[in-house]
Amino acid sequence: MKVLFIAGEALPFASTGGLGEVMASLPAALRKRVVGARVVMPLYSSISGETRKSFRFVCSISVPLGWRQQHCGVFETKRNGVTYYFLDNEYYFKRNSCYGEYDDAERFAYFSKAVLEMLGHLDWKPDILHCNDWHTALVPVFYHAFYRELDKYKGIRTVFTIHNIQYQGQYDHYLLKDMLGLDEKYRGVLDCRGLLNFMKGAVEVSDAVTTVSPTYASEILNGINAYGMEDVLRYHAGKIRGILNGIDTVSYDPQTDPSLFEVYSREDPTAKALNKSGLQKMLGLPVDPGPAMLSMVTRLSGQKGIDLLIQVFDLLMQEDVQLVILGTGERRYEVFMEEMQRKYPMKFVAAITFNHDLARKIYAASDLFLMPSLAEPCGLSQMIALRYGTLPVVRETGGLKDTVFSYNESSQTGNGFSFAEYNAQDMLYTLRRGL
Ligand code: ADP
Repeated sequence: MKVLFIAGEALPFASTGGLGEVMASLPAALRKRVVGARVVMPLYSSISGETRKSFRFVCSISVPLGWRQQHCGVFETKRNGVTYYFLDNEYYFKRNSCYGEYDDAERFAYFSKAVLEMLGHLDWKPDILHCNDWHTALVPVFYHAFYRELDKYKGIRTVFTIHNIQYQGQYDHYLLKDMLGLDEKYRGVLDCRGLLNFMKGAVEVSDAVTTVSPTYASEILNGINAYGMEDVLRYHAGKIRGILNGIDTVSYDPQTDPSLFEVYSREDPTAKALNKSGLQKMLGLPVDPGPAMLSMVTRLSGQKGIDLLIQVFDLLMQEDVQLVILGTGERRYEVFMEEMQRKYPMKFVAAITFNHDLARKIYAASDLFLMPSLAEPCGLSQMIALRYGTLPVVRETGGLKDTVFSYNESSQTGNGFSFAEYNAQDMLYTLRRGL
């Protein structure tokens, strides 16, 4: 079987969160099971000249998009045995960030069309096009409309994976013909509540739809955190599955991780304490094994449950704890973190930055890892915490419910602590249980 993963991000080239990590670890893991897996993504200008030195030019193609004809350069490189293709067009991808640009609809419509055009120029034919999130949702739609009858493309199947249903790619209907070049037949395929919705189109025409945990699949099918997609999903329930994400256990290994102050193992975890003292020293906290170290490594967004933390922040600071938060995101949350750092300089550190090395140090140094998400499709952070022997404290939602099992005093089983309601007092109670 041969699979082409299509994504807006993949580590180590560009990443904004969990999707980028999965695009690095899943294709490599599939290859070990004799599934041919390749990846294609945009060539963002943020990918450094140093990284590009290993790239090989494959071909140059012309991509039809509505009435436009756009150039595309195709490059390739290998990472962990996996071929990564990069699609180059400076007009679309010489930008400050992967997403969030005013013309994202056109950028990712172009990318989706270019992926399909590229296939006509490779001497490699995938059996499956595996698309991820709304940025690639037009691939199955364009395949259905323009490519499935062509000799070079016949028999290819499409899978669409929802990593985050909150972002669907919703635009005005006038884009249908003018930009996407689709005929009237596809208006209904893409329409969702009066807007063109790229994700909805993918759900309609893909052969299979997956999401990243069984609980999240059942939640969105039942209208919980489904952001208006519940009816469409329910209609297609027969082809929807939740498959739990995983982490790269070779890269995330406390026995070998070069980011750590000291390595340690499940058999001999004593050096975990040296990671705690190392991080305390590095962040300017009192070097003391006494207080429990709590941490979060997270996007600072409402979805991640930051509001619960804000409500009980002062109460939490009364406990014998040190709290470390690494994250970037919404400005109001960043401002709150900075204020609290001034108020509790001996107990709280907020690192408002994106830093993989510091993230690993924090996972290793902490006693408890907090993830009180409002919604969580899967979540990688709680699994990384577990890998470093750090107990997660989570809300029972989506993939958190599938991976963290609350400690049960009588049977002495469990791997963390959890609470059900989205409620700050319940979170505080559960944190105290953890302490
Ligand atoms: P999401 O994809 O919703 O952001 P996940 O838990 O699935 O959440 O994945 C988040 C990944 O991004 C984790 O590997 C986490 O360690 C990493 N991460 C999040 N914020 C930061 C940050 N500020 N610095 C470094 N890594 C981060």
